[in-house]
Amino acid sequence: MFEQITGHQQNKEFLERFLTREERPHALLFYGPEGIGKCMLAKEFARAFLCHETVPGKRPCNRCESCRLLNFETGNFAHPDYLYFDPTTDEEQEKKKTKIISVNQIRSLIKQAAFGPTLSKHKICIINEADTMNQEAANSLLKLLEEPPDKWFFILVATSVSRLLPTILSRVIQVRFTPLTIEETRKVLLEHGIPEAEADLLAHLSDGSLGQALRFREERILDYRNMALKYVAEFPMGAPMTYLLQEDYFSDVIPSAGGNEQLQQFVAMTVSLLRDLLFVKSGLGEQVFNTDAIPQLLKIAEKWDAGRLHQAVEAAQEEAAAAARRANTKSVLDSLTFKINACCEGRI
Ligand SMILES: [Zn+2]
Repeated sequence: MFEQITGHQQNKEFLERFLTREERPHALLFYGPEGIGKCMLAKEFARAFLCHETVPGKRPCNRCESCRLLNFETGNFAHPDYLYFDPTTDEEQEKKKTKIISVNQIRSLIKQAAFGPTLSKHKICIINEADTMNQEAANSLLKLLEEPPDKWFFILVATSVSRLLPTILSRVIQVRFTPLTIEETRKVLLEHGIPEAEADLLAHLSDGSLGQALRFREERILDYRNMALKYVAEFPMGAPMTYLLQEDYFSDVIPSAGGNEQLQQFVAMTVSLLRDLLFVKSGLGEQVFNTDAIPQLLKIAEKWDAGRLHQAVEAAQEEAAAAARRANTKSVLDSLTFKINACCEGRI
């Protein structure tokens, strides 16, 4: 069951057993890092939970009316016993542009809670990113969880447990999700039709978060990596000031003047390459993230010694932190270049 979702074997088994239980709690909380498939599994569980098939192991059967009316592949969510809430931009929050699960959403849920299931034996409600609820929304939901309507079942999905009220936590069974392994992430990326070298890099960089890996891909991270590879190969520069004045090159790296996100990507890729160079230099090639760039890394590594690379990684990490603080783009690039160059020439 739930084969289409990679990883999370223990949780899948727990949910399978859960389906067969007569007596069960009325609310679960799926929590763990972003983008690892928590919500996807919650939705697949909902299909199995509502399915009309009598043998639990055969759910979801993909044939019954319930399965037809709740099918994420065909985009059919017309099932009357399925409710799903995603954070929205609330009117009051409009200015802040943050998306939250608002009290209005919880109020609409409470109104619907007056009704029982119509097509399946139960009703199921998924609240995604439940940790974005403000106090007011959380208090309203708490009332519902304290006196759950008959035949209703809730799944809360959250990244951070600490952002949820302890009173809510006491009303749910917590199911912890851990990141996927690099191999699992890579497998899913390959299934998405992403070429092998890119899937490899994305799996390593995203730390087991598939959502993060796909976001990286959208943000053209490979382009930034290739630019950073060209940049890292330039050290030692001899005359970094002259190099930095070649604005053409950097306007290539940082397409828009105030593009801090592009800068962050570029610096992060520079850090990952310097780190890989250190692994190559230390004979730990199997730890390399940028596996497709190993031939170039071997060549660049000839110009460095391990101690200096270590210093360069630390210096670049400092600049990555500065970029994340949204420091001035030019000063981050200048400082990054001077520091790496000084490390490479052994002047630090
Ligand atoms: Zn079915």
